[in-house]
Amino acid sequence: MSQSSKFTKAASSIAFDEKHRSTIKFNISRYDAAVRKGMARYNNLEKAKNQAAAIKRDVLANWDKYLIEFEEKISSRGVEVLWAKDTTEATGYIEKILIDNEAKLLVKSKSMTTEEIELNHTAEKKGCESVETDLGEFIVQVAGERPYHIVTPAMHKSKGDIARLFNEKFGTPIDSTPEELTEYVRQVLRKKYTRADVGVTGANFLIADIGGISVTENEGNGLMSTAFPKVHIVIAGIEKIIPKMSQLGLFYPLLAAHGTGQQITAYNTIFTGARRSDEVDGPEKMIVILLDNGRTNVYNDNEAYEALACIRCGACLNGCPVYKTIGGYTYDTTYSGPIGSVLTPFLRGFKDFSHLSFASSLCGKCAEVCPVKIPLTEILLANRRKTVEQNLRPSAEKIIMKGFRIISSKRSTFDSFPSVIKNTGIYPFNFVGWGPKRLMPVFAKKSFSQQYKEIENRNSKNKE
Ligand code: SF4
Repeated sequence: MSQSSKFTKAASSIAFDEKHRSTIKFNISRYDAAVRKGMARYNNLEKAKNQAAAIKRDVLANWDKYLIEFEEKISSRGVEVLWAKDTTEATGYIEKILIDNEAKLLVKSKSMTTEEIELNHTAEKKGCESVETDLGEFIVQVAGERPYHIVTPAMHKSKGDIARLFNEKFGTPIDSTPEELTEYVRQVLRKKYTRADVGVTGANFLIADIGGISVTENEGNGLMSTAFPKVHIVIAGIEKIIPKMSQLGLFYPLLAAHGTGQQITAYNTIFTGARRSDEVDGPEKMIVILLDNGRTNVYNDNEAYEALACIRCGACLNGCPVYKTIGGYTYDTTYSGPIGSVLTPFLRGFKDFSHLSFASSLCGKCAEVCPVKIPLTEILLANRRKTVEQNLRPSAEKIIMKGFRIISSKRSTFDSFPSVIKNTGIYPFNFVGWGPKRLMPVFAKKSFSQQYKEIENRNSKNKE
């Protein structure tokens, strides 16, 4: 089955799953309330968004310069920088690092880039246990699932779902509270941190002027994942670069306010290298893998390149009516929601993923909430056009749309068809494409023009 058919089938089913809807509705309503408070802290949110957008556009105009500056600065402190053009190259590097360091246990903080290259799978293949240390990621790992959302990976699970899952997997009491379950996970993870050979993080920002890696998180697990293991691997998309450390003063609160509604995330760390001789903790070795994996395809597209400004706050997902209806898994991609629909065709090919450009009502909420002002709806529309230009839509759709354009472009042509013909013409759509749970609207017997004329005639007669 094609990706597009899989998507339509999954979306048609989950859209009517009441339990899924109520869990998402509850969790997003809590997010909305927190974010409202977060936004209210700004005197001038628009100004902050404009500044962030301008910095990210400057990055795109000088991308190579900032990346090279970052590489020079961080490698001058002994950090190894590896450039990976795709998943295969990135996983090749990781496999080698795991073998060289005889790694048996890897602890990992939350990172969508590592999801993109399926790091856990690579580690397990090499006989190295890979443990997610972010609570949400830990939950989905235990459940054998992937992250449901780029910021809140277990958003689709209720408290009860998690208590049942842990009861089944670890034998914790079925009526455990979230606090008790968190404490349980804390105890499990403490043992893993101290035994781990390798710690892996992503990067929220790569800082060019100091050659630093900024990781922002709420649980301290990123810090723990890098404090004990002897090797720290950073896996970061090349779009994460910002020119200056001082700009974190703008980006940290903006990311926190849009991601969780916080004023600032609890733990903000800048890694600049491995442990120095006068330091007591930290890794002996630090390696940074800079991942392209299709990002330069986005960059080379005049209409889509601004999508690389994304800081992965997740706000566009939470605002999107389509995401709220079909949920994260239906997309079957690492990045879901509006930003995922924009990026994935470039990262994984238009042939398989261009249908996501059509998974939008184009209401514009995503672009409105985006802290770096990415014109998401415009890019989605441009992607749709590219899909048609590349002949990736079904031929039947093309014929139907062409016919519809001819018939509907002139009111007189449209009205010349009696309603019985119009209703017969659209009847098959009740069974194909439109889905069994919706009925096509029925054309009135008389056209609008006809009805309008009749009323006008009646009115003028009454005046006489
Ligand atoms: S596109 Fe904008 S709103 Fe969506 S995740 Fe990226 S930064 Fe956030």
